[in-house]
Amino acid sequence: MINYNPKNWLGFIFSLHKSDTIRILWKEIIYIAILTAIITSLELHFFPSSSVLKNLTAVYSLLGFVISLLLVFRTNTAYDRWWEGRKLWGAVVNDSRNLSSLLASMGLTEAETQSYSRQLIAFSSSMKEHLRRNKLPKIIENIRNFIIEQGGEIHFESKLTGITRTDNKISHLEINHGEQTPIKQVILATGHSARDIFYLLHQTGIKVLAKPFALGVRVEHTQALIDQMQYHGRLNDEYLAPASYSLVEQIDGRGVYSFCMCPGGIIAPCATANGEVVTNGWSPSKRNNPYSNSGIVVSIDPTDFENPEDPFVCLTFQQEVEKLCHDATGNNQKVPAQRLLDFVEGRKSKDFPRSSYTPGIESVRLDEVLPPLVAKRLQKAFQAFDKKMPGFLTNDAVVHAPESRTSSPVLIPRDKERMHHVEIINLYPCAEGAGYAGGIVSAAIDGMKCVEAC
Ligand SMILES: Cc1cc2nc3c(=O)[nH]c(=O)nc-3n(C[C@H](O)[C@H](O)[C@H](O)COP(=O)(O)OP(=O)(O)OC[C@H]3O[C@@H](n4cnc5c(N)ncnc54)[C@H](O)[C@@H]3O)c2cc1C
Repeated sequence: MINYNPKNWLGFIFSLHKSDTIRILWKEIIYIAILTAIITSLELHFFPSSSVLKNLTAVYSLLGFVISLLLVFRTNTAYDRWWEGRKLWGAVVNDSRNLSSLLASMGLTEAETQSYSRQLIAFSSSMKEHLRRNKLPKIIENIRNFIIEQGGEIHFESKLTGITRTDNKISHLEINHGEQTPIKQVILATGHSARDIFYLLHQTGIKVLAKPFALGVRVEHTQALIDQMQYHGRLNDEYLAPASYSLVEQIDGRGVYSFCMCPGGIIAPCATANGEVVTNGWSPSKRNNPYSNSGIVVSIDPTDFENPEDPFVCLTFQQEVEKLCHDATGNNQKVPAQRLLDFVEGRKSKDFPRSSYTPGIESVRLDEVLPPLVAKRLQKAFQAFDKKMPGFLTNDAVVHAPESRTSSPVLIPRDKERMHHVEIINLYPCAEGAGYAGGIVSAAIDGMKCVEAC
């Protein structure tokens, strides 16, 4: 925020050259001054008694009046936006202050009160930085430095490759296939794509279970189309954020829903091994890409398969779909795609509009490539979504496949209270890969809970 001192009005006149307006507009001001000088000199020298030109002052006054009215409206709208933000920011400040005063009456220990107050401060501070500019990389660097200052160590390029178990404890970890490192406690937060870790745990005799997850496609419309559906025609209004949507239906006993909807976003390649393809989506902070994409996924349950007791039944299914989609396009990162209406009506698409997925898309009968338990439900869901959001089911949208990494297909079971593994008492399965989080914030909070439980 810029603080002005209204008493220093004289100073403003002499520092006019420093103002943003002058710095941005000086070229235009000079251009208009030259143009005006030329016109005035023409008028004085060549048409000194023209009656048309004599009334120009009235025209300029009228024009000035209209422009000033427009300016008033613009200033009002801008002030409204500023005031809206100001109120929200004020509420954050007041609520976090009230919450930290309430901590004192909650019967917490001194250390717990301190920890929660710090978290409240950290929340407001990170939000401010996130809104103002991208300082997050610096914040992460600071977190790393803080860990080091507290006596911690960060080991880059160090992969967990082996676990040694003695009775109900882990005694050693093997890093980069090297020597065994003795350990006291392990927080395992390797994410939902570290399949090698799930297999490693199983081979070491550490219990893992199959977990329900969701799998489907990424559908991409143009952002203009989604804006039209959601705002009912109020397009190109700079004060309206690019529209999003959230859709859900029950189809044949399973939930089908939109997941990680990215307005003004991009579909990204996210495979983690050769011979597979995976899509995911993200939006730049301005959400100003011309496309809008969302995962549309079907809930998958271990009981959908013949061997629900197999801890890897969902993971194997996930892997198979990723391979099927890879093989459908050839040996590259292109993904199979189909226009949305063609997908629902079972037709191969002849061509495509532009896609934000940069490795490229290839026309494939996705309705046949995807297993029927996914494809059939998706087809019905898209028809139902079109009733909720008329225009959604259109051949101007394209489905890309697969969206398969919505959450972990494996659960590493842990004790609810003590947070350690149900059998291994110094192993703390943590965050998304272990099945206890579904996004950045919930993963971070689960990490904090595990640290406190250790
Ligand atoms: C493109 C994209 C966009 C996303 N957008 C959002 C979003 O807008 N909002 C949101 O909330 N979530 C989003 N997510 C999801 C979010 O990133 C995850 O939910 C979150 O990062 C999970 O955190 P985690 O700590 O459990 O796992 P991860 O962040 O996956 O961290 C796991 C870490 O373990 C390391 N690791 C794995 N195996 C080993 C090993 N053997 N040895 C040593 N280290 C290992 C990995 O390198 C990784 O650094 C997005 C994900 C993607 C891919």
